[in-house]
Amino acid sequence: MNDQWYFEIGDGNTYGPYPLEKLQKWAAAGNLMPTHRVRNADSSEWVIAAYVPGLELTTVIQDAADAKEHEKQTSGNAIGSLVRGLGHKNKSKKSTPVEPPDIVAMCNEMLKIAFKRGASDLHVDPERNITLVQIRVDGELETIRKLPKNLHNPVVSRYKVLSNMDIAERRLPQDGRFVHSFDEDKRKVSIRAACLPTTHGERMTLRLLALETEELTLNRLGMSRRTYDTFVKYASQQQGMILMTGPTGSGKSTTLYAALRHRLANYPGRIITVEDPVEFDIVGVAQAEVDSADKVQFNTVLRNILRSDPDVIMIGEMRDLESVDIAIKAALTGHLVFSSLHTNSAAGVITRLIDMGVKPFQVAATLRLCVAQRLVKRLCSQCRKPRNLTSVEAANLGNPTLEGSIIYEPGRCERCNERGFHGRVGIFEMLPIDDELTRRIVANCDEGAVSDYMRECNMPRLRDDAIDKLLAGATSLDQIFSALIW
Ligand SMILES: [Zn+2]
Repeated sequence: MNDQWYFEIGDGNTYGPYPLEKLQKWAAAGNLMPTHRVRNADSSEWVIAAYVPGLELTTVIQDAADAKEHEKQTSGNAIGSLVRGLGHKNKSKKSTPVEPPDIVAMCNEMLKIAFKRGASDLHVDPERNITLVQIRVDGELETIRKLPKNLHNPVVSRYKVLSNMDIAERRLPQDGRFVHSFDEDKRKVSIRAACLPTTHGERMTLRLLALETEELTLNRLGMSRRTYDTFVKYASQQQGMILMTGPTGSGKSTTLYAALRHRLANYPGRIITVEDPVEFDIVGVAQAEVDSADKVQFNTVLRNILRSDPDVIMIGEMRDLESVDIAIKAALTGHLVFSSLHTNSAAGVITRLIDMGVKPFQVAATLRLCVAQRLVKRLCSQCRKPRNLTSVEAANLGNPTLEGSIIYEPGRCERCNERGFHGRVGIFEMLPIDDELTRRIVANCDEGAVSDYMRECNMPRLRDDAIDKLLAGATSLDQIFSALIW
C-alpha cells in the first residue's frame, strides 16, 4: 500500500492515489513541482516535493497544519530532513482516480496560440474570480482563455519554472527568460518573462521575441525601393552614426535589429549592443542588457564595450548627453553606431542633438543618416475592399488631386481572423546628411531649415510614404490618419 500517493498542485484538489511511478512521470514532465505537496496513502503527513525530476528528494513535514507555514519558510531551498528513494513498485489496482489537469500541455498550447497568431506578448492576468489569458496581436489585446481561478497558480508556476524563477517566491517581482521550441516545425522563440504580484495573484507577462529564423530582415519592413537603397547604403558604411526616431511602438528597434542582421550577413566585424531591455536575440551579436534608468552603469558599460574593440555598436536609446557623447566619440574613431532618439521627425534629430549639448561640428562630423518611423496595420490582402477616395479625404491628406484614387478598407476573412488586418508595415522618412546639409548644420540651422532642405531635395517625408502605402493598398486611411498628424 505504501507506494500509493496523493498530491496537491495548489488548485484546491487532492489527486490520487497513484503509484509513485506515475508521480515521477508527472514530476519529470514538469506538472509536479518542488513546492507541490505529496503524501503517502497510509500517512497523513504532507511532504513537499523539493526536487522535481523523479521526486528523489522530498522534505518531510510533521503534519498538515504545519505544511502551509513550512511552505513559506522553505522557499524551495532549505530542505529539512530528506527522504530518498521513496517506496517501491507495488501494483494494487483500485478505483481509477481523476487525472489532474495537464498544466504543461495547457501552457504549451497557450504559447503555441500566441506564436501562431504572431503575438508579441502573452499575459496571464489574475482577476477576482477567473484568470484571463490574453495575447497582443498587432498591438491589440485579445483573450484566448478564461481559466478557473484554481489553475492560476499551477500555470504561473509552470512558466516560472521554464524561465528559471524562484517558484516559491510569490511576493516579489521577478524576471527571467527561456527559449521555447515548437517541435513540429522546429522553430524556436526566445521569451522574456516578468512576474508581478498583484491583489488577485501574480501577473505573468511573456514577451515573445523575434523568431530565430530569417524573418527579421530589412526587406520585410515595408520600405520603398528608394528608402531601402538609402538605408542599406548607410548601414553598410564603416563609421558614423545612424539615428532612428519615433514614438514608443513605432518599430524603431525592429529596424535597428534588421540593420544589424544585414551587417552580420554581409560584412565581417564584431557587433555589440547595449540595450534596455534586449528585445530580440541575435545569434552572432554580443548583447548587453543594462537598466538605462541607472545612467552611471549604462554609460560605464558603454565605455567598456568600446574598449572591447567592436566594429558596429547599437545603443538602444540615448537619453542623456553622456551617452550621446560616448556614441559620438565611437563614431569619430572608426565605429558604425546605430541608436535611437526621442523626436518626432528625422529633421528634428539634428536640433535635438544640439539641444542636448552636442556641438554642431560634432553632429556634422558623425551623423550620416536620420530615420523617422511609424508603424501601421497592414490590410489583409485577401479581404480588403476597394473604394474611391472622396474629395474631402483628398483635401485632408493635403493633396486634392488624389480625389477618386482607389484606396482599400479592411474586410473580414478567415486568414486575418475576421480582423481585416494581417501584420504591420512601417512608414519611413530618411534624411541622409550630405555635404550641403553638413555645411548648414555647422552654420547652426534650425529644424525648419532642415525641413526646407528636405523639400528642396524632394526627399519623401513620413506623409508621402504614408500616402504611397495607402494608394498601394498596404494600409487604410484610418490607419495613416491615426499614425501621423496631418
Ligand atoms: Zn482577411
